[in-house]
Amino acid sequence: MFDNLSDRLGGVFDRLRGRGALGEADVREAMREVRIALLEADVALPVVRRFIDAVTEKAIGQDVLRSITPGQQVVKIVNDELVEMLGGQGHEGLELDVKPPAVVMMVGLQGSGKTTSTAKLARYLKQKHGKKALMASLDVQRPAAQEQLKVLGEQAEVATLPIIEGQQPVDIARRALEASRLQSFDVLLLDTAGRLHVDEALMAEMNAVARVSNPAEVLLVVDALTGQDAVNVAQSFSGEVPLTGVILTRMDGDARGGAALSMRHVTGKPIKFAGTGEKLDALEAFDPERVAGRILGMGDVVSLVEKAAATIKEEDAEALAKRMEKGQFDLNDLRMQLQQMNRMGGLGMLAGMLPGMKKAKAALQGSGMDDRVLLHMDAIIGSMTAKERANPALLNAKRKRRVAAGSGTQVQDVNRLLKMHQEMGRAMKQIKKMGGLKGLGALFG
Ligand code: GDP
Repeated sequence: MFDNLSDRLGGVFDRLRGRGALGEADVREAMREVRIALLEADVALPVVRRFIDAVTEKAIGQDVLRSITPGQQVVKIVNDELVEMLGGQGHEGLELDVKPPAVVMMVGLQGSGKTTSTAKLARYLKQKHGKKALMASLDVQRPAAQEQLKVLGEQAEVATLPIIEGQQPVDIARRALEASRLQSFDVLLLDTAGRLHVDEALMAEMNAVARVSNPAEVLLVVDALTGQDAVNVAQSFSGEVPLTGVILTRMDGDARGGAALSMRHVTGKPIKFAGTGEKLDALEAFDPERVAGRILGMGDVVSLVEKAAATIKEEDAEALAKRMEKGQFDLNDLRMQLQQMNRMGGLGMLAGMLPGMKKAKAALQGSGMDDRVLLHMDAIIGSMTAKERANPALLNAKRKRRVAAGSGTQVQDVNRLLKMHQEMGRAMKQIKKMGGLKGLGALFG
C-alpha cells in the first residue's frame, strides 16, 4: 500500500531538496505534481484541494523559502499536513472507560472484513489490555455468519454468545448485554449484519441495536482495496449512525491509499485500526505519524524498531537508538542491522521500513541480486578494519580494492554498500530533525 504514491512523492521531493534556493514558482510546480500523485492514489478531490492549499500557503507564506534548507522545510510541512490528513495524533484506541460492559458495535458492508475484524479486535483487547471480552453476531442475514464468529472466537480464545436459531438482532443484543452483566465481561463486541449495499432497512437495524446497547464505540469496517467506494460507503454510514471510528482492512493489499487518506475528512472520524492480513493477529493501531513517514519514504523506523525489539538484545537496541539520535550511525551499526534483518526475514520483509532501504533494494534487484546480498554486505563490512567501520570516510580507492578482494566482491559492491549507509544516515538525520524519533526511547524503556 502507498507504494506508487510514495515513489511519486519521493521523486518530487528529491528534486526540491536538490536545490539550494527555492522560489514560489518551484513550490507551485512541486505542488502540481503532488496534486497529481494524490489524485492517482485515489484520494478524494476535496481532500486533495485542501491539502495542496494548506501546504502551499504554509510553504510560501512563512520564511521557509529564505531559510537555509527550503526543500527540507517544505517536506516537513508536507509531512505535518499528511499527518493531519490521516487524523492527527495517534488514536491509540478506544474509549472503553464506561460502566461495563463497554459495548463496541461493528458496522459495515458484507465482505468488508467485519467479522474477522471483530475477532481480531477482541483478541487485541484481551492480549494488549487484559480485557475480558464477549462477542455476539447479530448477523441473521448471511447464512452461517453466526457460526463463523463462533469459529473465530475459538481460534482467538474469546467467548461468543451461544447461538439461538431464529432470534432477531435487537433481541440478540439484549441477550448479549444480559450475559455480559451476569458473567462480568468488560467488553461486548457486537458484529452487526452486513448488506451488499447501504439501505434503509440496514440503517434502521443499526440504530435499533444502538438504542438498546448504548455503544461506547461504533466502528465502521471498510475495505481499503475498494478506494473511492470505501469513502462513499463511509460517507453514507456516517450520516446515519453515530460512528466513533473506522477500521480499514486489507492494508496489506496493493490499495493505492486513497481510502486511508480521505477517510478522516469525509467521516470526521479517525481510522483507529488497520487490518493487515487474514490472520487474527493482523491488526494494528493506526498511527498517522508512522503512516505519513511511510508514505514520504522515510521508512517506518518505529515499526522497524518494534520488530527489531522482538529479536534484538535490549542493550544493543538501546545503544543503537542512542547512536541514531546522535547521528553516529556507523558501519558497525549497519552490520548489526543487516544481521538482524537476516534473522527477521530478509530484505523483502523490511524493504520500505528502513530509511533508504527501498531504493537500495530496487538498485540491488536491478543488479540481479537477492537476499544473498545481506550476506555479501556482511562479508564486506567484515573485511574492513575496525577504524574503517567506525569511519567509512577512510575508505579510499586502495582500501576499497582490499575490502572487495577480502570479501570476494567487487569494488562497486563496496561502493553500493557505502552509498546505502550514507542514505540511511541522511534519512535518519532528517527524521531526527522532524522529531520523528520521539517515542523511540519509550519503546525500549
Ligand atoms: P464480513 O462479511 O465483512 O464479515 O467479512 P469477513 O470478516 O468474513 O472477511 C471477508 C474476507 O476478507 C475473509 O476471507 C477474511 O479473511 C478477509 N480479510 C479480512 N480482513 C482482512 C485484512 O485486513 N487483510 C486481508 N488480506 N484479508 C482480510
